[in-house]
Amino acid sequence: MSSWRESIRNVEPYVPGEQPRGASVIKLNTNENPYPPAPGVTRALREMDPDLFRKYPDPSAGMLVDALAERYGLGRDQIFVGVGSDDVLGMAFLTFFNSGRPVLFPDVTYSFYPVWAKLFGIPYETPALDENFCVNPEDYKRDNGGIVLANPNAPTGIRLPLDQVEGIIKANRDSVVIVDEAYIDFGGESAVALIPRYDNLLVVQTFSKSRSMAGMRIGYAMGQRDLVRALHNVKYSYNSYTMNLPSIILGTEAVRDEAYFQETTRRIIRTREEARRRLGDLGFTCTDSCTNFLFISHRRADAARLFEALRADGIYVRYFPALRTKDYLRVTIGTEEEMEIFYKFLASYLDRI
Ligand code: PMP
Repeated sequence: MSSWRESIRNVEPYVPGEQPRGASVIKLNTNENPYPPAPGVTRALREMDPDLFRKYPDPSAGMLVDALAERYGLGRDQIFVGVGSDDVLGMAFLTFFNSGRPVLFPDVTYSFYPVWAKLFGIPYETPALDENFCVNPEDYKRDNGGIVLANPNAPTGIRLPLDQVEGIIKANRDSVVIVDEAYIDFGGESAVALIPRYDNLLVVQTFSKSRSMAGMRIGYAMGQRDLVRALHNVKYSYNSYTMNLPSIILGTEAVRDEAYFQETTRRIIRTREEARRRLGDLGFTCTDSCTNFLFISHRRADAARLFEALRADGIYVRYFPALRTKDYLRVTIGTEEEMEIFYKFLASYLDRI
């Protein structure tokens, strides 16, 4: 065997959800927003001059950072931006989890966390969620090298109340606690309000869900200056120009349109609550999700089989075959019309089995 093969970093990668093409596909599998980005984004895209692409973008993405700082009432030195929250989270793992002590995150959560931990050689432990898929805060009050909590959690959609999140941050003043708030705009209380009080708290959010811009790849972290400075030091040791010019310009437009953001998130929340009722009528149980997806199971319908049947009909949802999630499907909230087609398929499927 050639010797270079022995020097390869062997990793088992994260597997993202499918991205099927085609107008007739109903895509409820990767928690994207079914509504377009804010009108200002479309306008700015039309007006964008490609001549600007000759030059490198602002490595600090200043315009975008300023818009976020204003939106969240933070200083510009309290915000770090990256290529989707995956980039931001990966960078945060690399920056903050170097003690050699195990990092803690739940057994059922965003499945990228163990992938980064392995890639960077970070030891980790995964306290089990309880039988209702809830975090027990006491599991996070012991010696550790850092904590990562998706809140609301994925793929369950369940939130941890802010006072319990705060209890975890307070009990861990010597480690960095990352709160991944990819879905916070659809429910739950953000930990951003806690930033002035805790120098060990990093809150991570994304433009991929509530701001309808998954394809643009924009994520951000918020925390006290020293944390953000440490993230920047690692970023500038790896790639100065993470944010491309369209992301900076279009992301800024998205943040500026608060009214549109409020309107679309409210609409998705309304559709989610309707979905919970309609799926309940069909005999599904749904976790108490406050995100833009539902985590559902049915006593009579095998989840893996239902997943395949939906897929064969052009309706894509997400299935996680791991032991604790194998009886569930994760279903992104689509438009009202898409959801009607989904319910109709389910009603006829349940009649057939
Ligand atoms: N965190 C959680 C909990 C997620 O579900 C996702 C979406 N896959 C992400 C982070 C990453 O999203 P993005 O990189 O698009 O910001």
